[in-house]
Amino acid sequence: MSGEPKIPVEAAEVAAEAMRHLWWLRDAGIREIPLAPAPPPTARPPAPAPGNAYALSDKGCGSEPLLAIRGGLGECTRCKLHGGRTRLVFGVGNPHAELVFVGEGPGADEDLQGEPFVGRAGQLLTRMIEAMGFARSDVYIANVVKCRPPGNRDPEPDEIEACEPFLKAQIAAIRPRVVVALGRFAVQTLLRDATPISRQRGRWREYEGVKLMPTFHPAYLLRNPAEKKPAWDDLQLVMKEFGKPSPGRGT
Ligand code: URA
Repeated sequence: MSGEPKIPVEAAEVAAEAMRHLWWLRDAGIREIPLAPAPPPTARPPAPAPGNAYALSDKGCGSEPLLAIRGGLGECTRCKLHGGRTRLVFGVGNPHAELVFVGEGPGADEDLQGEPFVGRAGQLLTRMIEAMGFARSDVYIANVVKCRPPGNRDPEPDEIEACEPFLKAQIAAIRPRVVVALGRFAVQTLLRDATPISRQRGRWREYEGVKLMPTFHPAYLLRNPAEKKPAWDDLQLVMKEFGKPSPGRGT
């Protein structure tokens, strides 16, 4: 037995978590932590839960900042969607991705598997990503809300208000060059612009200081294959941004 005082394991875990949180703030460029007044809850970066129950190997958590955000989200009960979920769908992919795709919210397959875009629309999204010259694992994929809305209805304003700060924090942690917003709901919600998607798609916008390209949702493309051509035009603008050669054809 050494004479040194022992730090309880729990206290050490809390201290380690606090350090990770501070590194995240530093990496996000935050140099001062205001003591007062406290920002409103939805604007505050989510604080990690003491003793993060999640791991870097969990889906979408592959960096310390993302892991801290996952810890802050926890087994979320902030809105009514939590009552119907099987699994919370945090995100998936490269924690340092240059390209992020944002959809609406998990569907039935995603709810069961805990991963965004794994159903039929997800398979099409994967083909679109590959046609762009990326692998699915190169990019990061998330949704506006992280729990499945009942019957796949649109997420409601209180649900968006509760969840979007975590998406914003994920984007701040990843710091991509481009966000692609998939479909009417994601485009109109992220941009706070009710203009129809048919008029918003294919035009560069900005979200949280990042270039954003609005395009059609893969589920819509499955129902309307003729719209694949304009969607591919949108994705080619993104490829051009990355200096990628265009194969000149869709999926
Ligand atoms: N549709 C979405 O918007 N997101 C998913 O994760 C799956 C389907």
